[in-house]
Amino acid sequence: MRVAVVGGGVVGLSCAFALRRAGAEVTVYERGRVGEGCSRGNTGWICPGLSAPLPAPGVMGGALRGMLHRDSPLVISPLLGPSFLRWSWGFWRASTRERYRAGLEATVALTKSAFANYDELRAAGVEFELHSTGMLVAALTEPGLDEYAAMLSEAEEAGYEGPVRVISGDEARELDPALSEAVIGGVHAPSERYVRPESVSNGLAAWLRANGGEVEENAAVESLDDLEADAVVVAAGAWSGELLGESRFPMEAAKGYSITATSSGTLPKHALYLSEGKVGTSTFDGDLLRIAGIFDLMGIDETLKPKRIDAIVRSSAAFLKDWVPNEIELEWAGLRPYPSDGLPVIGSVPGREGLYVATGHGRMGITLGPITGKLVARVILENETPRELEPFRIERFA
Ligand SMILES: Cc1cc2nc3c(=O)[nH]c(=O)nc-3n(C[C@H](O)[C@H](O)[C@H](O)COP(=O)(O)OP(=O)(O)OC[C@H]3O[C@@H](n4cnc5c(N)ncnc54)[C@H](O)[C@@H]3O)c2cc1C
Repeated sequence: MRVAVVGGGVVGLSCAFALRRAGAEVTVYERGRVGEGCSRGNTGWICPGLSAPLPAPGVMGGALRGMLHRDSPLVISPLLGPSFLRWSWGFWRASTRERYRAGLEATVALTKSAFANYDELRAAGVEFELHSTGMLVAALTEPGLDEYAAMLSEAEEAGYEGPVRVISGDEARELDPALSEAVIGGVHAPSERYVRPESVSNGLAAWLRANGGEVEENAAVESLDDLEADAVVVAAGAWSGELLGESRFPMEAAKGYSITATSSGTLPKHALYLSEGKVGTSTFDGDLLRIAGIFDLMGIDETLKPKRIDAIVRSSAAFLKDWVPNEIELEWAGLRPYPSDGLPVIGSVPGREGLYVATGHGRMGITLGPITGKLVARVILENETPRELEPFRIERFA
C-alpha cells in the first residue's frame, strides 16, 4: 500500500511513522521544512490533564471581556468573513455543558496512551528531547487558582489518572524556586511531561528516512489529485481546509506566539502554566526557556508581531522570581488548527475513496500526535474506525 501524507508537522510525521512501521510505503510532502509549522515553537507539553475542549460554558463571554485588556491573550481580526461566523456559531453551539463534557471524555480517552506512545517512539529509535518533571499551574489570585483546579478535577472525573494536588504558594515555591512571592497557590500534576517539539519532528523525519520512508521538503501539494498513491492523508494543519475544500468543516487558525531565550536567574524546573497570564513555559536543554501563549484569530496569517511577543514576556513577569532573557534564540508565531467544536478531525473523508484527514488538534497536537498516527494507520490499513475515533470523525459536521 502506497500512502502520501500531506504535511510534515508532528501529526503528519506521526501518521507516516505509524504507517511505515506497519509496513506501508510512505511519502511525506512538506511545503517548507518539516516541523516548521505550528509544531515548531510551542511548549511541547504532553498534557492529558489539559484535555478540556476550548468551547466550554461561559468561555465566549469571558474571552470577549478579556479582549479589553492591553495584553489580552485573545485578539480577533475585524476582517474575518462568513466562514468565521460559521465557525463562531459552531463554537457557541459546542459550548454547552453536555457537549463540553462529551468532548472532554473523548479527548481524555485519546490521551490515555500519550506517555506510552512517546516511550514507544524512543524504543523504536526516534531521538528527541524529553522531560518528565511534571506540570505546575501557578496562580496569583484565588479565581486564577480555582479555574485550573476545577479544570484538572473535571479531567479526573472524565478519566484522567493524574494525580493532581492543589498546593499553597509556599509549597509551589518549594517545588519550583523559579516562582515569585506573588504566587498564592498552584495545581501540581507530577506525571505530565514535555518534549522539545522541534526535536520530535526532526527525530521522526530522520527515523523515516533511515527506515525506508520518504520525506520530501519544499514540496507543496497544489491538488490532492496530483498525488500517485493508494491512500492520501491530509495533515496540513491550519492549511488543511484549503486542500480539502473549505466547506468540509469549519476550522480557524488560532495564532500563538513564543519566545525562546538563554536566561539568567532561576529557571523553572517544571512545565509551568501561569494562570492569569495564560502563558506556559518550558525549560529546555542548554538553559533555554520558552514562554508561549496568545490566541489570535486572524485567519491564515503567520506574521510575527513584536508587540504580542512583548505581551507574553510581560504576562510572565509577576510569576517568575528573577528570570531575565539573555540571548534570544527564537521568536515565533504558529497557527493552531481549530475546528469550531475544539476537537480534532481524524479519519476517512466520505465520498472520496482513499482520502483521510488528521488535523484540528488545536492546543493538543504534541500530546495527541502519536496516537493520531496509530489510529490513522489502523483506519487505512485495517479499514476500520476504532471506537475511540468515533467522536472525531468528519461526519459530525454534516
Ligand atoms: C503557542 C502554542 C503553544 C502550544 N503548546 C502545545 C503544547 O504544549 N502541547 C501540545 O500538545 N500542543 C501544543 N500546541 C499545539 C500544537 O503546536 C499543534 O496542535 C500542532 O503543532 C499541530 O500540528 P500539525 O502537524 O497538525 O500542524 P503543523 O505543525 O502546522 O503542520 C502542518 C504542516 O503542513 C504543511 N503544509 C501546509 N499546506 C501544505 C501543502 N499544500 N503541501 C505540503 N505541505 C503543506 C505546513 O507547512 C506545515 O508544516 C501549541 C500551539 C501553540 C501555537
